Amino acid sequence: MVSRVIPVETFDLVIFGGTGDLAKRKILPSLYRRFVGGQIPDDARIIGAARADLDDAGYRALAEAALTEFIDPARRDTESVGRFLAHISYVAIDARGEGGWAKLAGLVRKTVVQAFYFSVAPTLFGDLAERLHRHHIAGRQSRIVVEKPFGRDLASAHDLNATLASHFAESQIYRIDHYLGKETVQNLMAVRFANILFEPLWNARHVDHVQITVAETVGVGGRGAYYDQSGAIRDMVQNHMMQLLCLIAMEAPYKFDPDAVRDEKLKVIRALEPVSPENIVRGQYRAAKDAPSYVQDAENPASTTESYIALRVDVANWRWKGTPFYLRTGKKLRARTSEIAIVFKEVPHSIFGDAEGWRENVLAIRLQPNEGMTLSVMIKEPGPGGMRLTEVPLDMSFAEALGEDGADIPDAYERLIMDVIRGNQTLFMRGDEVEAAWAWTDPIIAGWEARGDKPKPYDAGSSGPEDALMLLHRDGRRWREIAE
Ligand code: NAP
Repeated sequence: MVSRVIPVETFDLVIFGGTGDLAKRKILPSLYRRFVGGQIPDDARIIGAARADLDDAGYRALAEAALTEFIDPARRDTESVGRFLAHISYVAIDARGEGGWAKLAGLVRKTVVQAFYFSVAPTLFGDLAERLHRHHIAGRQSRIVVEKPFGRDLASAHDLNATLASHFAESQIYRIDHYLGKETVQNLMAVRFANILFEPLWNARHVDHVQITVAETVGVGGRGAYYDQSGAIRDMVQNHMMQLLCLIAMEAPYKFDPDAVRDEKLKVIRALEPVSPENIVRGQYRAAKDAPSYVQDAENPASTTESYIALRVDVANWRWKGTPFYLRTGKKLRARTSEIAIVFKEVPHSIFGDAEGWRENVLAIRLQPNEGMTLSVMIKEPGPGGMRLTEVPLDMSFAEALGEDGADIPDAYERLIMDVIRGNQTLFMRGDEVEAAWAWTDPIIAGWEARGDKPKPYDAGSSGPEDALMLLHRDGRRWREIAE
């Protein structure tokens, strides 16, 4: 299958924080891959901006080193890297200073799409937005891209929204949640709304429960101090897992339009029940033979921040009342895997009596590794003898199903950056969605802080704390295995 390259209008993209980790690891490599994919117009400009005293050649060298480090050698070649670098220039700018802005104003054209990627700490968003206007660089045609974390609670998210809103309209603000750029996540919408097969079953009458798992094998070493201020709930649940939950639970939007989709997601967030303490399990990994514990990684011996969390979440609406959503995420777990599993109910009556081998149907949507979907169905175990049942997967690995193109699934950032240029906000979070998600998250955190709850220890390489198993056992269910 050959993917269609949809041309984009020409653009000027300014990467504030252009020398930072995100720019090097994601933004520049994604732009290069879109360049190779034929989506960067000949006269498009990519302008790095940061305080470092670099000239264009110095920044191009930095960009080239980033491509060498973060792009598979099989997917880059010297000639195309050279042509890509010709699009790039650099301006030394301090977000809080006045130097460099006049030069930037001379580089950014008024007649093309302008995108300003704020790949800097959120405390600088206001300074950048204000100076972009004061120096007459940004206008009504400008778009800004902001990264997570979008606040650390409702009040700070609200302040951040207010700061951005004083300079830009909501239609100009692109809040990135890179999970939404993942091919499988977008496919979730295609599977739900482009097939008649699933939708009649997609409700509490037929779905027993839903499990959303994001498991990592790495610890927090290296970014422990940052992580210790957030923990799993702020780092993963309030944003990425909430977005996944919304896409599973939402009603069909009237069309695939940014606000129609985001309106439906918002309704889901508003329908979430408060979570009671017995429906929350927090964990912290302990030291292994030669590996440090969470508190050592975080360099905070008294830390009560969770590196693992499991929650039972209930959506109080007609479609989902009675079908729990179980969410779990953690560091230093058995395998690196992200999966959504829709676990269907039992058949109403088994004509096979107590036939051996019966299991529920499960639609498992893998986000990583090996993006794809599997629907498990029951068949008769082949051969003579009694009627024994066995589970077989109807498997659709995107890499296999889509041939060569599937093996080269674009990184979420490639898709999202091109959507910014196209002016399509469907896969970006709206301000009210982010605030609603914090409004649900804040009382959970306030609750455990007020109770003085401490996270339960768990072993590195395990599936998390024992109590998380109980969360489902208590409801007569069990977690799916965490396995690659
Ligand atoms: P980083 O490596 O610390 O880079 C920060 C960038 O901001 C550098 O280019 C730095 O360059 C620039 N900067 C700092 N102060 C500045 C100022 N006063 N004026 C102008 N530029 C300034 O951070 P990062 O990891 O790239 O993260 C950037 C943003 O993305 C943060 O909001 C982060 O939370 C978010 N994010 C990052 C990741 C990731 O994987 N890294 C993932 C998700 C979200 P100079 O020091 O030369 O000015």
